[in-house]
Amino acid sequence: MASILHIQDLTKTYQSTGKTLTVLDNINFTVEEGSTNAIVGPSGSGKTTLLGLCAGLDRSSSGMVELNGIRLDSLNEDARAQVRNQYVGFIFQNFQLLPTLTALENVMVPLELRGEKHIKPRALELLDKVGLADRSHHYPAQLSGGEQQRVSLARAFSNQPKILFADEPTGNLDAETSEKVVKLIFDLNREAGTTLVLVTHDAELAAKTQRILRVKGGKLISDERTLG
Ligand code: ADP
Repeated sequence: MASILHIQDLTKTYQSTGKTLTVLDNINFTVEEGSTNAIVGPSGSGKTTLLGLCAGLDRSSSGMVELNGIRLDSLNEDARAQVRNQYVGFIFQNFQLLPTLTALENVMVPLELRGEKHIKPRALELLDKVGLADRSHHYPAQLSGGEQQRVSLARAFSNQPKILFADEPTGNLDAETSEKVVKLIFDLNREAGTTLVLVTHDAELAAKTQRILRVKGGKLISDERTLG
Protein backbone atom coordinates (compact mmCIF):
# COMPACT_ATOMS: atom_id res chain seq x y z
CA MET A 1 0.00 0.00 0.00
CA ALA A 2 1.17 3.57 -0.68
CA SER A 3 2.45 5.63 2.23
CA ILE A 4 1.02 9.07 2.94
CA LEU A 5 3.31 10.05 5.77
CA HIS A 6 6.97 9.22 6.10
CA ILE A 7 8.95 10.27 9.17
CA GLN A 8 12.68 9.69 9.26
CA ASP A 9 15.22 10.48 12.01
CA LEU A 10 12.85 13.14 13.33
CA THR A 11 14.23 15.19 16.21
CA LYS A 12 12.82 18.23 17.96
CA THR A 13 14.77 20.22 20.49
CA TYR A 14 13.99 23.39 22.41
CA GLN A 15 16.50 25.78 23.96
CA SER A 16 15.58 26.70 27.48
CA THR A 17 17.76 28.68 29.93
CA GLY A 18 20.90 27.80 28.01
CA LYS A 19 20.11 24.07 27.92
CA THR A 20 18.96 21.94 25.00
CA LEU A 21 15.79 20.01 25.72
CA THR A 22 15.28 17.04 23.38
CA VAL A 23 11.52 16.53 23.10
CA LEU A 24 11.58 14.06 20.20
CA ASP A 25 14.57 11.85 19.65
CA ASN A 26 15.18 10.19 16.29
CA ILE A 27 11.65 9.02 15.45
CA ASN A 28 11.03 6.80 12.42
CA PHE A 29 7.75 5.48 11.03
CA THR A 30 5.61 5.37 7.92
CA VAL A 31 1.82 5.66 7.75
CA GLU A 32 -0.08 3.89 5.01
CA GLU A 33 -2.71 5.71 3.02
CA GLY A 34 -6.22 4.95 4.30
CA SER A 35 -4.99 3.43 7.58
CA THR A 36 -6.06 4.28 11.13
CA ASN A 37 -3.34 4.96 13.71
CA ALA A 38 -3.12 5.94 17.35
CA ILE A 39 -0.21 7.61 19.12
CA VAL A 40 -0.22 6.88 22.84
CA GLY A 41 2.11 7.51 25.77
CA PRO A 42 2.40 9.31 29.08
CA SER A 43 1.80 13.01 29.44
CA GLY A 44 4.85 15.03 28.40
CA SER A 45 6.25 12.25 26.21
CA GLY A 46 6.11 14.34 23.03
CA LYS A 47 2.84 13.19 21.39
CA THR A 48 1.43 16.66 20.68
CA THR A 49 4.79 17.86 19.38
CA LEU A 50 5.01 14.82 17.11
CA LEU A 51 1.50 15.34 15.75
CA GLY A 52 2.20 19.03 15.10
CA LEU A 53 5.36 18.18 13.16
CA CYS A 54 3.58 15.48 11.11
CA ALA A 55 0.80 17.95 10.22
CA GLY A 56 3.20 20.76 9.35
CA LEU A 57 2.02 23.01 12.20
CA ASP A 58 5.61 23.18 13.40
CA ARG A 59 9.00 22.38 11.95
CA SER A 60 11.50 19.72 13.03
CA SER A 61 14.99 20.53 14.34
CA SER A 62 16.32 17.76 12.11
CA GLY A 63 15.01 14.80 10.16
CA MET A 64 12.43 14.33 7.46
CA VAL A 65 8.63 14.74 7.38
CA GLU A 66 7.18 13.77 4.03
CA LEU A 67 3.42 14.22 3.68
CA ASN A 68 1.73 13.09 0.48
CA GLY A 69 5.15 13.16 -1.21
CA ILE A 70 5.97 16.72 -0.05
CA ARG A 71 8.94 17.40 2.23
CA LEU A 72 7.47 19.59 4.99
CA ASP A 73 10.76 19.95 6.85
CA SER A 74 12.22 22.09 4.11
CA LEU A 75 9.20 24.42 3.77
CA ASN A 76 8.55 27.75 5.49
CA GLU A 77 5.33 28.45 7.43
CA ASP A 78 3.42 29.85 4.43
CA ALA A 79 4.24 26.90 2.23
CA ARG A 80 3.35 24.46 5.03
CA ALA A 81 0.03 26.28 5.50
CA GLN A 82 -0.74 25.72 1.84
CA VAL A 83 -0.03 22.00 2.16
CA ARG A 84 -2.24 21.90 5.27
CA ASN A 85 -5.10 23.67 3.50
CA GLN A 86 -4.89 21.22 0.67
CA TYR A 87 -4.40 17.86 2.35
CA VAL A 88 -4.67 18.05 6.13
CA GLY A 89 -7.47 18.15 8.70
CA PHE A 90 -6.55 18.87 12.32
CA ILE A 91 -8.66 18.52 15.46
CA PHE A 92 -7.53 19.96 18.78
CA GLN A 93 -8.52 18.81 22.25
CA ASN A 94 -9.69 22.33 23.10
CA PHE A 95 -11.46 22.76 19.72
CA GLN A 96 -9.71 26.06 18.82
CA LEU A 97 -12.72 27.66 17.18
CA LEU A 98 -12.54 31.38 16.48
CA PRO A 99 -14.69 32.91 19.27
CA THR A 100 -15.88 35.93 17.28
CA LEU A 101 -17.24 33.83 14.42
CA THR A 102 -20.43 31.74 14.35
CA ALA A 103 -20.32 27.97 13.87
CA LEU A 104 -21.10 28.48 10.18
CA GLU A 105 -18.40 31.14 9.74
CA ASN A 106 -15.83 28.94 11.49
CA VAL A 107 -16.51 26.19 8.95
CA MET A 108 -16.43 28.70 6.09
CA VAL A 109 -12.91 29.96 6.92
CA PRO A 110 -10.89 27.10 5.37
CA LEU A 111 -13.22 27.03 2.36
CA GLU A 112 -12.58 30.75 1.85
CA LEU A 113 -8.84 30.21 2.23
CA ARG A 114 -8.98 27.62 -0.52
CA GLY A 115 -10.76 30.12 -2.76
CA GLU A 116 -13.79 27.86 -3.15
CA LYS A 117 -17.12 29.08 -4.46
CA HIS A 118 -20.58 28.54 -2.93
CA ILE A 119 -18.98 28.17 0.47
CA LYS A 120 -22.07 28.94 2.54
CA PRO A 121 -24.19 26.01 1.30
CA ARG A 122 -21.13 23.76 1.52
CA ALA A 123 -20.44 24.84 5.13
CA LEU A 124 -24.11 24.26 5.99
CA GLU A 125 -23.92 20.80 4.45
CA LEU A 126 -20.86 20.04 6.62
CA LEU A 127 -22.64 21.27 9.76
CA ASP A 128 -25.61 19.11 8.83
CA LYS A 129 -23.31 16.09 8.52
CA VAL A 130 -22.19 16.55 12.13
CA GLY A 131 -25.80 17.11 13.23
CA LEU A 132 -25.50 20.84 13.89
CA ALA A 133 -27.38 22.56 11.05
CA ASP A 134 -29.69 24.12 13.65
CA ARG A 135 -26.73 25.66 15.53
CA SER A 136 -25.13 27.36 12.53
CA HIS A 137 -25.63 30.92 13.85
CA HIS A 138 -24.45 30.18 17.37
CA TYR A 139 -21.09 31.44 18.60
CA PRO A 140 -18.68 28.94 20.19
CA ALA A 141 -19.46 30.26 23.70
CA GLN A 142 -23.15 29.39 23.09
CA LEU A 143 -22.31 25.77 22.27
CA SER A 144 -21.54 22.82 24.54
CA GLY A 145 -18.08 21.21 24.42
CA GLY A 146 -19.41 18.36 22.31
CA GLU A 147 -21.07 20.75 19.89
CA GLN A 148 -17.88 22.81 19.61
CA GLN A 149 -15.90 19.66 18.85
CA ARG A 150 -18.42 18.72 16.15
CA VAL A 151 -18.04 22.19 14.59
CA SER A 152 -14.29 21.66 14.63
CA LEU A 153 -14.84 18.29 12.91
CA ALA A 154 -16.96 19.99 10.23
CA ARG A 155 -14.15 22.52 9.79
CA ALA A 156 -11.49 19.78 9.62
CA PHE A 157 -13.55 17.81 7.07
CA SER A 158 -14.19 20.87 4.87
CA ASN A 159 -11.16 20.46 2.62
CA GLN A 160 -11.82 16.73 2.21
CA PRO A 161 -8.46 16.00 3.83
CA LYS A 162 -6.35 13.06 2.74
CA ILE A 163 -5.15 12.77 6.33
CA LEU A 164 -6.82 13.78 9.58
CA PHE A 165 -4.75 14.43 12.71
CA ALA A 166 -6.57 14.64 16.02
CA ASP A 167 -4.99 15.55 19.35
CA GLU A 168 -7.04 14.01 22.16
CA PRO A 169 -10.27 14.54 20.22
CA THR A 170 -12.39 13.14 23.04
CA GLY A 171 -10.27 14.44 25.94
CA ASN A 172 -12.77 17.08 27.04
CA LEU A 173 -15.99 15.24 26.23
CA ASP A 174 -18.40 13.04 28.16
CA ALA A 175 -18.75 9.38 27.16
CA GLU A 176 -21.88 9.80 25.04
CA THR A 177 -20.53 12.80 23.11
CA SER A 178 -17.15 11.07 22.67
CA GLU A 179 -18.92 8.20 20.98
CA LYS A 180 -20.58 10.55 18.46
CA VAL A 181 -17.29 12.31 17.69
CA VAL A 182 -15.40 9.02 17.31
CA LYS A 183 -18.08 7.70 14.96
CA LEU A 184 -17.82 10.80 12.75
CA ILE A 185 -14.02 10.48 12.60
CA PHE A 186 -14.11 6.78 11.69
CA ASP A 187 -16.96 7.35 9.19
CA LEU A 188 -14.61 9.73 7.35
CA ASN A 189 -12.05 6.93 7.13
CA ARG A 190 -14.62 4.39 5.92
CA GLU A 191 -16.47 6.67 3.51
CA ALA A 192 -13.67 8.81 2.07
CA GLY A 193 -10.61 6.69 2.84
CA THR A 194 -9.13 9.49 4.95
CA THR A 195 -6.05 8.38 6.86
CA LEU A 196 -6.38 8.87 10.63
CA VAL A 197 -3.62 9.69 13.12
CA LEU A 198 -5.05 10.15 16.61
CA VAL A 199 -3.25 11.07 19.81
CA THR A 200 -5.24 9.65 22.69
CA HIS A 201 -5.19 8.61 26.34
CA ASP A 202 -8.32 6.58 25.72
CA ALA A 203 -7.33 2.90 25.43
CA GLU A 204 -10.74 2.03 23.96
CA LEU A 205 -10.31 4.60 21.19
CA ALA A 206 -6.72 3.48 20.50
CA ALA A 207 -7.91 -0.13 20.21
CA LYS A 208 -10.33 0.89 17.45
CA THR A 209 -7.38 1.84 15.21
CA GLN A 210 -5.29 -0.61 13.21
CA ARG A 211 -2.00 0.38 14.74
CA ILE A 212 -0.72 1.79 18.02
CA LEU A 213 2.50 3.80 18.15
CA ARG A 214 3.77 4.23 21.70
CA VAL A 215 5.94 7.21 22.60
CA LYS A 216 7.90 7.61 25.82
CA GLY A 217 10.47 10.25 26.73
CA GLY A 218 10.52 11.49 23.14
CA LYS A 219 11.28 8.05 21.67
CA LEU A 220 9.07 5.67 19.74
CA ILE A 221 9.18 2.60 21.97
CA SER A 222 6.69 0.31 20.25
CA ASP A 223 4.70 -0.02 17.08
CA GLU A 224 1.93 -2.63 17.20
CA ARG A 225 -0.73 -3.74 14.77
CA THR A 226 -4.05 -4.23 16.52
CA LEU A 227 -7.18 -6.16 15.62
CA GLY A 228 -8.97 -2.77 15.21
P1 ADP B 1 2.46 15.20 25.29
O1 ADP B 1 1.58 15.61 24.16
O2 ADP B 1 2.91 13.78 25.18
O3 ADP B 1 1.87 15.49 26.64
P2 ADP B 1 4.11 17.42 24.45
O4 ADP B 1 4.48 17.15 23.05
O5 ADP B 1 3.02 18.41 24.70
O6 ADP B 1 3.81 16.05 25.19
O7 ADP B 1 5.38 17.95 25.24
C1 ADP B 1 6.60 17.19 25.29
C2 ADP B 1 7.65 17.97 26.05
O8 ADP B 1 8.04 19.12 25.29
C3 ADP B 1 7.16 18.48 27.39
O9 ADP B 1 8.21 18.30 28.33
C4 ADP B 1 6.93 19.95 27.14
O10 ADP B 1 7.14 20.71 28.29
C5 ADP B 1 7.99 20.28 26.08
N1 ADP B 1 7.61 21.39 25.20
C6 ADP B 1 6.54 21.44 24.36
N2 ADP B 1 6.51 22.62 23.70
C7 ADP B 1 7.57 23.33 24.13
C8 ADP B 1 8.09 24.64 23.83
N3 ADP B 1 7.50 25.43 22.95
N4 ADP B 1 9.23 25.02 24.46
C9 ADP B 1 9.84 24.21 25.35
N5 ADP B 1 9.41 22.98 25.69
C10 ADP B 1 8.29 22.54 25.09
